[in-house]
Amino acid sequence: MAKDQEMVKVYILGEGFDVPASSTIITAMEYAGFQLTTGVGCREGFCGACATLYREKGDYKLQAGLACQTVVSDGMYIAQIPFVPAEKPIYDITKLTPDINSFKTLYPTVFRCVSCNTCTKACPQDIEVMDYVQALIKGDIAKAADLSFDCIRCGLCALRCPAEIVQYNAGILARRLTGRYLLKKSPDLELRVKEIAEGKYDKDIEKLMKTNKEKIKKLYYEREVKLG
Ligand code: SF4
Ligand code: SF4
Repeated sequence: MAKDQEMVKVYILGEGFDVPASSTIITAMEYAGFQLTTGVGCREGFCGACATLYREKGDYKLQAGLACQTVVSDGMYIAQIPFVPAEKPIYDITKLTPDINSFKTLYPTVFRCVSCNTCTKACPQDIEVMDYVQALIKGDIAKAADLSFDCIRCGLCALRCPAEIVQYNAGILARRLTGRYLLKKSPDLELRVKEIAEGKYDKDIEKLMKTNKEKIKKLYYEREVKLG
């Protein structure tokens, strides 16, 4: 740490710590000595594991955000939540239809939406959460699937919803139904699944499992991407 680095005081689970002003909530917690084994994942805003509640100095509002993306501020109170407990019905996708009836049965709470837009404001991915809930209410499953596509399942929308809707689980059902019933079938995908089932790639997968992280990253970024 540079000697003249600006520090701020934050309160983590009620205890005060001085941490560098440029810290994210995760790096502040680690700086303060917390060893994070849950509620942390990719650290790049993609996995949705680090949903956190916080309150800024002088602000009554309880805010929610991803701990890896939220920079601390002086006087901030932080309470990390290991996960968001949420309703998750079990279903057999082959017995469902890609329409409003599946949601009436499995996620009846979506019909309680009061259009307050709190979920959209809470979403760290800038997803139009309320719009995809409204699409579900109208039975437009494909639109809901499309609008919710970038969801990282952090749970922050559900955490703030006054109607107790679990938007992200309803969104994943919309994407599953769309993938299974509404999108055009890809012959390439069917062929590849068949090849995998027949063991065509077993040796390659085994080789990959023994490859180090840096080499895997290189292979990933240099891969050929087939568009269209
Ligand atoms: S839709 Fe909800 S669960 Fe998905 S990223 Fe946004 S806030 Fe998180
Ligand atoms: S927070 Fe809940 S009630 Fe409000 S718009 Fe979103 S889904 Fe509807």
